[in-house]
Order: sequence, then C-alpha cells, then structure tokens
Amino acid sequence: MTAAPLPTLNEAAALDRVLKLMAIPGKSGEEAAVAQFIMEQLRAAGVPESAITTDHVHKKSPIGGSIGNLIVKLPGTKRGPRRLMMAHLDTVPLCQGSKPVLQGMTIRSADQATALGGDDRSGAAVLLTAILEIMEQKLDYPPLTLFWPVQEEIGLIGARYVSPAKLGNPKLCFNWDGGSAGMACIGATGGFNIEVEIEGIASHAGVHPEAGVSAIVIAGLAIADLQQNGWHGLVIKGKNQGTSNIGIIEAGDATNVVTAQLKLWAEVRSHDSVFRQRLVDEFRKAFERAAKSLSNSRGEKGKVKFTSDLKYDSFRLDESEPSVQAALRAIRAVGIEPATRISNGGLDANWLAKHGLPTVTLGAGQQDVHTVNETLNVEDFLNGCRIGLLLATGA
Ligand SMILES: [Zn+2]
Repeated sequence: MTAAPLPTLNEAAALDRVLKLMAIPGKSGEEAAVAQFIMEQLRAAGVPESAITTDHVHKKSPIGGSIGNLIVKLPGTKRGPRRLMMAHLDTVPLCQGSKPVLQGMTIRSADQATALGGDDRSGAAVLLTAILEIMEQKLDYPPLTLFWPVQEEIGLIGARYVSPAKLGNPKLCFNWDGGSAGMACIGATGGFNIEVEIEGIASHAGVHPEAGVSAIVIAGLAIADLQQNGWHGLVIKGKNQGTSNIGIIEAGDATNVVTAQLKLWAEVRSHDSVFRQRLVDEFRKAFERAAKSLSNSRGEKGKVKFTSDLKYDSFRLDESEPSVQAALRAIRAVGIEPATRISNGGLDANWLAKHGLPTVTLGAGQQDVHTVNETLNVEDFLNGCRIGLLLATGA
C-alpha cells in the first residue's frame, strides 16, 4: 500500500498566523479579541457565517468572562465519521504583552518579562491553519467540528461546560495543547480542589490567650499530621500513588488577637479515582482531628468546614481507540515515530472524555509554558500543522 501524498502546507503563512495569534492578549475570561481574529480569518476564507457560533459557557464560570467557546461545525465534502479538532483560546496572565519574534527555528517573546503564549495559541493556529488550507487548496474533508474552548487555564471551564450536542456528536477527537509533535497523550490524572474554613475562638492574645482557640494552630496541627503521615506532596501508599498540595492560606490581621478565622485551599490528584477520594478523606480527617484536639480554658473547640470539588476526572484511552489510531497514523505519515504518554496534569481532554468524547492530545511546539522562558519550537509547530491538516482531511 502506498501512502497518499501529504497535502502541502504554506509554512510562511502558518508561521505568520501563529505569530499574530500569540501577540493578541487574551488571558482567561478575556478571549474576545482572539476569537474575533479567528472568526475574521474564517469568514475571509469563505467559511459560511452560519457555521460559526459562540456559546455562553462563560456565564457558568466563577470569573465570568467576555465570550464563550468558539465552535465551527462544517458538514464536510466527503462521507466519514465527524472529527473534532480543539485547542484552548486563553493564555496565562504572564503572556500579556508578549512580543513574539522568530529567531531561527525558535519563536520567543522580545519582551523578556512575559511568557510567549504558545500555550495554547500554537494549538489554536493548528486548527485555523487546517481549515484555511482546506479552503485554499479545495481539499476534501469529512464532517468537521473546530472547537476553541475558553478558560482552560483557570479550571478547564470551556471544555467542562460545553454542551456535547453543540459539538455535533464527533467520533474522533483531537486536542492540540502540548510540545512534541510526535507525542500523543492518551490519558491524564484526575484532581479535586479542597477548601477548608476553620473557625476558632477569638480572644485577647496578651490578656486571655487561654480563652481563645487559634484557627492557625488547628491548621498547623492538621498540616503537620498530613506531612508526618505521608499524605502531603508525593503520596505513595503501597501500589497507590497521588499528589497533594496546600497552596494558599489566608488568616489573621493582628498579632494581639488569637486568630479565629482561617481559610485554606489545597488540591489532590491521582490517576486512580478510589485513591483520589482517599486523599480527600485523609485531608478532611486530619483537619477534623486537629480541631478536636484543641480546646480553650472553658473546654470549647473550633469548627472545620471542609468542601471538595472534582476539578476533572482521570481518563485513559485504549490504544485501539479510533482517535488514537488515527493520531498515530498521522504522526507516522509526516515522518515521525509516535509515542504515547499519560499526563500528570488536567487537560481539556479530561472533560471531553467525561462527555463521552475520547480525545487524544497532541503537540505543536510549546516549550517551558507558564514561564518567561517560554518558546515555540518551529519544527514541532509546523509538523503539528501537517498532522492537523492530515487529521482534518480524514487521513
Ligand atoms: Zn494549555
């Protein structure tokens, strides 16, 4: 069997496109300008207005936001199962002011105080490049959904709240949000957010400290308990593994008061959903034990209010899954030996999997994301575009 010839890619146009996309400010909740840019390009290329929609997921976001997900649904020019291609629109705040410049085979921000925004404008550019090449070269393609979700960086909001029906029931799904063009991510961990509110008893710290119950001491006891018993940081218990982190504590406003109020935020992650729940339970028990162990001179104790919220569930695709097979085939077709991996971070694909849409996450050149050292690897980006074009045309 001879392989079909690769569709050609206008490399200069693809590079120009990603440079422009990365220069548009658009942190989570402020994606309107970048969505506008993409919509203008789609219209100019002849994508019918009726195919271009935005939804209202931002209204379900804790931060609100200026626009919802951008979804383009096309009937295709040949038969085949519907394919979905996705990449998130937002960047982390550190990318505000990015001045992307091409230096050899690397793109970096000329402003050294900003990140670049390759996460995830490189992915956004892969989708846009695929459809623009299809229109320009009049290539045949199967039913196709292009999905640019918003607010990935603050908790996968766009992917979480999208209505799967609006995506047109795709059978194969591909997400671009990674580095190496040869790497297919076929699974990811799951995680909970934890919020703990501790209510102690206030008292004058110099006159009657014994009448107080310090919320800070309760938290301290609980944290020491978690650390000493191996439930904080990298957690390994027999064959089970996970991670946990207490990231934020807010408490107190004076040293002469026994602090009565404390709020604390933490997260736990594990690929195993049972063990993930165990981590949450160990956290809850540690804070409850700590509160019970401390009383004031009248025998009164503090209270703990503990809440946990599933940020995203873990998932793992079988290698025989059609999305995985198609992705690996496309990677091979551009001359790269593919590899698969499982992510220790949450991806939009976690929520797509939860919606019943098995999604492979691919790379398009991102490097050192969320830091001022962020770069885009041009070779991986262009290969990501070639793979995107192959997958969009049904290869
Ligand atoms: Zn990303």
